[in-house]
Amino acid sequence: EIRLRQALPENSLQVHYQPQLNLRTGQLHSVEALTRWDHPELGSISPGCFIPLAEECGVIGELGMWVINQSCSDLRQWREQGLNVPAVSVNLSPTDFRDPTLPTRIKQRVDAHGLQPLDLVLEITEVVLLDRHPDTLRTLRTLAQLGFRLSLDDFGTGYSSFNYLRELPVSEIKLDQSFVADLDSDPVAEALAEAVCRIGAALSLAVVAEGVTQAHHIEKLRQLGFTAAQGFYYTGALQAQALAVWLKQHRLAQSVHSA
Ligand code: C2E
Ligand code: MG
Ligand code: MG
Repeated sequence: EIRLRQALPENSLQVHYQPQLNLRTGQLHSVEALTRWDHPELGSISPGCFIPLAEECGVIGELGMWVINQSCSDLRQWREQGLNVPAVSVNLSPTDFRDPTLPTRIKQRVDAHGLQPLDLVLEITEVVLLDRHPDTLRTLRTLAQLGFRLSLDDFGTGYSSFNYLRELPVSEIKLDQSFVADLDSDPVAEALAEAVCRIGAALSLAVVAEGVTQAHHIEKLRQLGFTAAQGFYYTGALQAQALAVWLKQHRLAQSVHSA
């Protein structure tokens, strides 16, 4: 906890980005910001370990704004290099939404970098929705009214309820990676993945598959109707500059000028 509190001022946290590719156009859909912590003595510490710690010890609010600021700055720089990166997807924690000033603070960050709310996708998990704190739903609705897109992460795990799709102004569903991993071996996983795609299509939501590791997953996901896919098959999360190189190598995100 002490080291985590020092990590932000010491600059030992970094944001890496994992591309999501549109399965229809082959172009970039978005890039997901994933925080990395390389501690000089402890080595690399996984988000699965430090994010829950940050939530517990109250550092998560500061960390979330830092990730948004960094993501906006990197998005701006990619665009200045002629890369047409459509958006950055940032993970937010359930406790962030209890703060009614969150939408204004995020909007200020986005404005400060000369970006638009549409440039940011905010990934939330259903834990946000299980939190019946009265401000949570209001905060989510305000964010959507300001033009930020909300994405429902890890969909299909836990208590995924259709009611969330009714109550919430989401514009994207991310099917949990466990479904993709079982696509080959489990006809039930495939049937459910297809059903989620149909729901997405009926509600005009983008549907993104996480955890794609095999070439044949891509064809299957396209047939099932997924909008986009993300996973080690393409690449893991990369540093901002390494992502720019990767995008150029793969002729992705080319703007009209640099094409
Ligand atoms: P997530 O948002 O569901 O992110 C996807 C996770 O799956 C990432 O793990 C990513 O590296 C990993 N992944 C990507 N492709 C593949 C694949 O093909 N196979 C497998 N097995 N895994 C893949 P990571 O970076 O360790 O992050 C874990 C979780 O920590 C994230 O899950 C997210 O919930 C949370 N997290 C990461 N960064 C942040 C952050 O800045 N803020 C908040 N609030 N949460 C974060
Ligand atoms: Mg996510
Ligand atoms: Mg996920």
